[in-house]
Amino acid sequence: MTKTVWEKRKGEERKALFAFAEDYRRFLSVSKTERTFVTNSIQLAEEHGFRELSTFDTLQAGDRVYAVNRGKNISLFVIGEEPLTHGMNILGAHIDSPRLDLKPVPLYEANGLVLLDTHYYGGIKKYQWVAHPLALVGVVAKKDGSVVQINIGDEPGDPVVGVSDLLIHLAAEQMKKPGATVVEGEKLDLLAGSIPCEDEEEKEPVKKQILNLLKEKYDIEEDDFLSAEIEVVPAGEARNYGLDSSMIIGYGHDDKVCAYTSLRAILEETSVKRTACCILVDKEEIGSVGNTGMESRWFEMTVAKMLEKQGSCTLTQLHDALSNSRMLSSDVSVAYDPNYPEVSEAKNSASFGGGICFNKYTGSRGKGGSNDANAEYVAKVRRVMDDNNISFQLCELGKVDVGGGGTIAYILANMNMDVIDAGICVQNMHAPWETVSKADVYEGYLAYRAFLKDMD
Ligand code: MN
Ligand code: MN
Repeated sequence: MTKTVWEKRKGEERKALFAFAEDYRRFLSVSKTERTFVTNSIQLAEEHGFRELSTFDTLQAGDRVYAVNRGKNISLFVIGEEPLTHGMNILGAHIDSPRLDLKPVPLYEANGLVLLDTHYYGGIKKYQWVAHPLALVGVVAKKDGSVVQINIGDEPGDPVVGVSDLLIHLAAEQMKKPGATVVEGEKLDLLAGSIPCEDEEEKEPVKKQILNLLKEKYDIEEDDFLSAEIEVVPAGEARNYGLDSSMIIGYGHDDKVCAYTSLRAILEETSVKRTACCILVDKEEIGSVGNTGMESRWFEMTVAKMLEKQGSCTLTQLHDALSNSRMLSSDVSVAYDPNYPEVSEAKNSASFGGGICFNKYTGSRGKGGSNDANAEYVAKVRRVMDDNNISFQLCELGKVDVGGGGTIAYILANMNMDVIDAGICVQNMHAPWETVSKADVYEGYLAYRAFLKDMD
């Protein structure tokens, strides 16, 4: 058995661990959507000497490159000494998280109140999203081509919105319903205002008042919601958790905890033998679909452009670059929870403080839909971790046939590269507030650094 991170990282190392976790806590608090995560990643990348791919005529060892897809999907590269056709060491994670989205026609007035209708995104327990302060973060794209940034609820002085819940006094019938239907999807409407406008002729005066406010503050009309992406996320900062502040509770650890640690690993890389890559994608929570999800051909096309800038890109060269790559496909794993021991099988479970998790396979009902990593590749990963004194744990997502889940791993494996599911374990996955151990956040980052440097 390897030591836990807390047993291993003491003194100065422990200080570094807490400092890194604080960087993450702050970044997470202002990066709740895929768009804000990408914007903040670009800023960090440029501070670390990365430049946009189109600004390079040729690519040489040591060049630091990033490419962005539609503001929601980013790839970063540190060019290695070996040609790209020898393959890359790739870190991947997703930056979308379960949430509520505003519908295209969200606004309505009822009984002197104005509400915003939503459609949930990803797998949520709907009852967790009621009676809870929520922020609105996203964009409104206008017909003139301009894009208005919306961010209401995260600054301390901001108002928030929320979904009402039924008072316990009148909930006798509701409380008899099973968890899946105790709060139904169409009941997740946000209360957004209650003051009527001064025009007494107005048929929907409260809605009108909110529209006036939106016009004044953002210069948007009701129809502009038709082309908007406004995400409803828990309001407020991620917080230190536990009396010893050993953990962080925050929105969107799935999978921003793996994304941030992977990002930091590549930002701090300066020279590598094999090209280092970090790819952060959107849409994992709804099946990796769409042109900003992992199923998009964008990543392959980006690699093709890079090959061209190294001299030439034939189909064979592109296939070589992908087939010879190795990947840690990172997504959160389940942390053993003493409140719910019945869903985990202890010796194949991840625990807080155990270090980075590796899942040879994920999936459900007999590994269905998972990338089952080859034993030979798992052995290489173990060697890199042991050589770099990294704590790691091999684990499954729950007991056999209790449930399961998917990741982006199989999609990269389709490109014929070696891929293993990796990541950091969380409690209350997909709840508005999820929990991670700072020990695992730091160990994950160290594991990613080791992988970029030493995987061959
Ligand atoms: Mn995930
Ligand atoms: Mn998820």
